[in-house]
Amino acid sequence: MQKYFVPPEQLTEAEAVITGEDAHHLANVMRARVGDSIKVSDGATREATATVAEIAKNRIVARVDELHPPTAEPAIRVTIAQSLPKGDKMETVIQKGTEIGAVRFVPFVSERTVVAYDAKKETKRLERWQKIAKEAAEQAHRGRVPEVEAPLAWKQLLQAAGEADAAFFCYEKEAGSMLRTALRSAIASRGGTDGMRVLLIVGPEGGFTEREAQEAEQAGCVPVKLGARILRTETAGMVGLACVLYEAGEMGG
Ligand code: SAH
Repeated sequence: MQKYFVPPEQLTEAEAVITGEDAHHLANVMRARVGDSIKVSDGATREATATVAEIAKNRIVARVDELHPPTAEPAIRVTIAQSLPKGDKMETVIQKGTEIGAVRFVPFVSERTVVAYDAKKETKRLERWQKIAKEAAEQAHRGRVPEVEAPLAWKQLLQAAGEADAAFFCYEKEAGSMLRTALRSAIASRGGTDGMRVLLIVGPEGGFTEREAQEAEQAGCVPVKLGARILRTETAGMVGLACVLYEAGEMGG
C-alpha cells in the first residue's frame, strides 16, 4: 500500500487531500483508481488508512477509514552525524538510515573529509537530501520524515552533541568500549529508551584523527567500537543505528 505525507491541514477525520507531485505520483505512476486503499500521514501525530474517492489533476481526495497515531516511529530518537562521504554516499546513508529508523541526519566536515564543500551548491543538495528522506520515509511507512540538516563544521557538531542524552563517537581504534556496553549503561542511567536522544558520530573514509577523538571525548562523547571489523563509512552508521534500535527493542521480536 502506498503511503504519502500531507500538510496537517490536508488530513481531517473525514478526508485526506493529496496534491502536487504526490498526486501526480499516485495517479500516473501508481495508476490509482477510485476505491484503492492508501496510507496518509501528517508527518507528526496522525496517520490514516484511506480510500481514494476522487482523482483530479494534481488533487486526489481519499475518504479516511481509520485515523490513528503513527505506528512505525521508534521511541528512541537516533541522529546520524555523518562526516561528508564521497560521491553519492550521503544519499545512501539518508535513504537506508530512514528505512531503518533514524530521525535526523547531520552531515559534517572533519579533518579527513575529502569532498570539496561548495557553498553555492548547498541549497540544491540539501533539497535533494530532504527529498530522498521524504521518499524513503513514504516507502518505509514511517510516521514522520527525518530531518536533514545543512553540513556543520566539526566544532559545531561537538557543541550540538551536548543536546543528546547519549552521544557515541564511532571509533574503530582499540581504546573504545563496545557500543552495546556503552548504550546499555546510558539507557540504565536514563531509566529507559522512551524519547531518548542518541547521537551516532561516524567518520569519513580516512577515519578520524587522534586529535578529533580526544576533542570528542572532551565534549562528552563516548568512543565506541562496532565490532572487530572495519566498516566503510556508509556502512558504519547503518550498523550502529540498527544495533541501537535492536538494543532498544525496536527491530521486532
Ligand atoms: N581508519 C580507517 C577506517 C575508517 S572507517 C582508515 O583509515 O581507513 C570510517 C568510519 O567508520 C570511522 O571513522 C568510524 O567512525 C566508522 N567505523 C568503521 N568501522 C568501525 C568499527 N569497527 N567501530 C567503530 N567505528 C567504525
